[in-house]
Amino acid sequence: MPELPEVETTRRGIAPYLEGQRVTRVIVRERRLRWPIPEDLDIRLSGQRIEAVERRAKYLLIRAESGSLISHLGMSGSLRLVECGLPAAKHEHVDIELESGLALRYTDPRRFGALLWSQAPLEHVLLSKLGPEPLTDLFDGERLFQLSRGRAMAIKPFIMDNAVVVGVGNIYASEALFAAGIDPRREAGTVSRARYVKLAGEIKRILAHAIERGGTTLRDFVGGDGQPGYFQQELFVYGRGGEFCKVCGSTLREVKLGQRASVYCPRCQR
Ligand SMILES: [Zn+2]
Repeated sequence: MPELPEVETTRRGIAPYLEGQRVTRVIVRERRLRWPIPEDLDIRLSGQRIEAVERRAKYLLIRAESGSLISHLGMSGSLRLVECGLPAAKHEHVDIELESGLALRYTDPRRFGALLWSQAPLEHVLLSKLGPEPLTDLFDGERLFQLSRGRAMAIKPFIMDNAVVVGVGNIYASEALFAAGIDPRREAGTVSRARYVKLAGEIKRILAHAIERGGTTLRDFVGGDGQPGYFQQELFVYGRGGEFCKVCGSTLREVKLGQRASVYCPRCQR
């Protein structure tokens, strides 16, 4: 599933080809995504100049003159640029054609993604309740400490809660907890301020590094410019249950927390 670094990598990959361009036509071959693509998307977008390509959490906001296209890649979605008129393969549901002769093509085999239109995207019901971006100063260890007081839930689902901070998916939560030496099963409300400061720093470091490296190459994600990332080899715990810890050699354990598989090192993480 594309996580925040992959979405940011996509944004950086596609933005230079979109910004300043006028949309000439929108072709929708399959409207049934997680929510149906609006019937009037072609009418709304055609003729509009794209002013910016922004990101909020895992949503891409393609801002045009009279509104924004809100895009979410879901489980298996991707966006890339193709020549206008390139025949579409299966699962290539939408083309947004530009005056440059390129088209932004949306592909999504599982169709859990979304393409929606909004005049005020940050006030849209999907975005309005989101917590702060992890790489801004609005997110820090003090926020985690304050919000966690009195919370009995495990720390891993706590930091994956979008109301606490956005964009900390399973991979990055697992890796940041390992780097901070915190057992993912630990009750959120019992973790000290100092440990939350360390954890927030690791979340920022790991996400920034993943963005720099172009995200992971899990499943069928391909970067916006067609170049897959290569962060995968650097994972310490995610997806490595039963393997040896790269730091201490212990066997990594796997448990379920908040319905998600969670791998941790019983010696390095307390
Ligand atoms: Zn270890």
